[in-house]
Amino acid sequence: MSDPRSEELAARLAETRDRLDAALAAAGRTDEVDLVVVTKFHPVDDVTRLARLGVRDLGENRVQEAAAKVADLSAAEPGLAAGVRWNMIGHIQSKKAAAVAGWADRVHSVDSVRVADGLEKGRARAAAGRDDAPVLPVLLQLSLDGDTTRGGVTREDLPGLADHVAALEHLRLAGLMVVPPLEGAPAAHFADAAEVARALRRDHPGAGQFSAGMSGDLEPAIAAGSTCVRVGTAILGPRPVI
Ligand SMILES: *Cc1c(COP(=O)(O)O)cnc(C)c1O
Repeated sequence: MSDPRSEELAARLAETRDRLDAALAAAGRTDEVDLVVVTKFHPVDDVTRLARLGVRDLGENRVQEAAAKVADLSAAEPGLAAGVRWNMIGHIQSKKAAAVAGWADRVHSVDSVRVADGLEKGRARAAAGRDDAPVLPVLLQLSLDGDTTRGGVTREDLPGLADHVAALEHLRLAGLMVVPPLEGAPAAHFADAAEVARALRRDHPGAGQFSAGMSGDLEPAIAAGSTCVRVGTAILGPRPVI
């Protein structure tokens, strides 16, 4: 597809990948970072364009919007849909968690036992009668400043939540996610979160992912050891006002 929007997305994707490569080089890193392209508020046509451009990880933060896009893409483009991994990155109400487990391929925003249990229940339901149902990788969202109204679990409650998730049959504790507080320098926040991520990995060696960095702060996130950035605006442009 070579409509003007696809060309624009391709150009911005290339720019973002260049930024990631430069940030990795500046940090002396030779590993790779997952790029989750955040499509929230943008139409499913953009999702289709991105999938055609080879984007594998897509991110959404609202349950209903995400479920509709997942359904639309699989109905219209089953071949493309099969190559895409849906990442839930936004706040989940515990009563909607089971539904999220029906379409998500990775969840970055687990911040309570109730959300974890809802995901477990939904995943168990989806797995019933199949032996090939994959476990759901989940990251725990950390609230660095303890203001949990913006989502996230406090650093005090994190180890207990990690132990709880690790014991669930249909979830896999994959790592830590952070959205830095608005106040203060992102670099300091990411360094702080990276320390918490290291402690989590000491207790749970499989929990090695560190999801940190968005359009405006992916360089300091990569310097602090991010393994996964979530980028919306830098690739899709400003979100349409709804
Ligand atoms: C929207 C969102 C992003 C992407 O933010 P941009 O600044 O548009 O790159 C990343 N992470 C979370 C949790 C989000 O809600």
